[in-house]
Amino acid sequence: MIVVFLGPSGCGKGTQAEYLKQNHGFIHISTGDLLRAEQDNKTEIGLQIAEDMANGKLISDDIILALVNKQLDLYPESSLLFDGFPRTLPQAEALENVLREAHKEISCVVDFSVSEKDLYARIEGRFICVKCSALYHDPHRMPREHGVCDVCSGTEFTTRPDDKPEVLAKRLEWFKNIVAPVRAFYKQKDLLKTLDASQPIEQVREEILSFLHL
Ligand code: AMP
Repeated sequence: MIVVFLGPSGCGKGTQAEYLKQNHGFIHISTGDLLRAEQDNKTEIGLQIAEDMANGKLISDDIILALVNKQLDLYPESSLLFDGFPRTLPQAEALENVLREAHKEISCVVDFSVSEKDLYARIEGRFICVKCSALYHDPHRMPREHGVCDVCSGTEFTTRPDDKPEVLAKRLEWFKNIVAPVRAFYKQKDLLKTLDASQPIEQVREEILSFLHL
């Protein structure tokens, strides 16, 4: 099964993706995580994208598609969950082409709808595990044991440098302008399922599971 999560940063898609990965065997392909890994490893791409990432700007389609294609080659048989991709119409079209060649298709595009006020509140409390990037939120989603990551038992946490209100404002602006055609693209294909992502995590999860017939 191939699923796309569409929604701005902080809408909760990372948390839901983590659930599907842990409980339903999805390979979670987050282009944000792939880009951050390039930065952490100081690759050529990592150095090239540093400034745009820090400013919340979109990274070029060429770079994104190269990273995604690498993942598609790595996991030819798995259920895939795309998170934060596609974000532009050319990315959506390129994904269609690659999948068609592999005789695959997207089952569902989950559209996370959430107010700007909620997004700012979520971003403000967000922190991640340094070792495995598991997402937490103070006070809504704290690790079960204080200071210890639920997923990998790591004990170091950090915040993302682009999780600042002024950068979020830019990311939202880009999101609204650029993602609108992506949403329309999938709506036209009758794949788009919009949910109210301001609901509690469990309710959002139930809705996603029903969309995916899981
Ligand atoms: P995210 O972790 O999805 O919030 O992404 C963090 C940042 O990575 C974004 O603000 C963009 O700078 C970049 N990024 C992630 N995914 C994409 C994408 N599909 N296309 C372009 N830029 C992206």
